[in-house]
Amino acid sequence: MSGKNVTELVQADAAGIARAAQILESGGLVAVPTETVYGLAARADSAEAVARIYTAKGRPDFNPLIVHVLDENQAKRYAEWLSGADFAAMLHWPGPLTLVLPKRDDAVLAEAVTAGLPTVALRAPSHPVMRALLKAVDFPLAAPSANRSGFISPTTAQHVLASLDGRIDLVLDAGPTTAGVESTILAIDRDGNWRELRPGPINSDTLHRRHFDRGLPAAQEGATSEVRIEAPGQIASHYAPGKPVRLDAAHAEPDEFWIGFGDVGGDCTLSLGGDVREAATRLYACLHQAALAPQPRIAVAPVPQHDVGRAINDRLRRAATPAD
Ligand code: AMP
Ligand code: MG
Repeated sequence: MSGKNVTELVQADAAGIARAAQILESGGLVAVPTETVYGLAARADSAEAVARIYTAKGRPDFNPLIVHVLDENQAKRYAEWLSGADFAAMLHWPGPLTLVLPKRDDAVLAEAVTAGLPTVALRAPSHPVMRALLKAVDFPLAAPSANRSGFISPTTAQHVLASLDGRIDLVLDAGPTTAGVESTILAIDRDGNWRELRPGPINSDTLHRRHFDRGLPAAQEGATSEVRIEAPGQIASHYAPGKPVRLDAAHAEPDEFWIGFGDVGGDCTLSLGGDVREAATRLYACLHQAALAPQPRIAVAPVPQHDVGRAINDRLRRAATPAD
């Protein structure tokens, strides 16, 4: 169990996935690769298992967890499947899109998963290892990022061990993740309002426009034509590397670790070619490297706001906000 102080690290092959399924079945904690970052999974139908996630991460109990499922059919067991959700899932599931929807009264989920909210966050991930694991078990998986709360998200198994070694049961290693930043979180309500709670790899504005373009069902009347971007119910300081971070820096001082972008090459460069997708993939690796570097401070080159650049800038702003 998570109380013991040995964390197994295994390859994410058939045997590793079978071992992970067995640990999850008995209420343990397993770090699993997804296409965004490594997640820390527990069975979402067990109060004890879910409580272990909060303890291992040191996560505040008011911060709800995302429930991972295989597909729409499984999602419908937990949420009211609104027409907007159906459209969004048809286009982007499996993939890095989380939908926050009204929770069904009969949803078999531990109360702590939703932190007492009347809504539930659902995602069908595309990573083959996470999918194989979801197929191997007969319960949904609650899985936040596999790091201590407030610290840098993990995109490799080594990043997971750097903050959770001895606090969880197993890490399934499948190499670095590809999308690099956490899923887009989109809340859809019964009145047809769409709110982006967290920017991520999927552009919710484009998605919303496509939904409008195909003609709205009556339930969507009164909805705005733009996705309303709400201040996320997330903690301002997050993804913190433990030292001061200076953003939009045109050059680095001698005591600064330099995270570059495009022409502005640094000690670690997000993307030499100026590609925001590549930058997203490398963001957390550069922040981990910066955290371990001898320099006491970090400077980051400007990253454009387009596409996933918005998600990168969101994460960088939080990394630059000192913890209380
Ligand atoms: P993480 O698991 O670290 O990627 O964080 C998941 C994020 O999803 C948290 O910041 C939560 O605020 C958000 N979230 C999960 N469930 C809900 C919900 N029911 N309503 C709003 N936000 C949610
Ligand atoms: Mg997180």
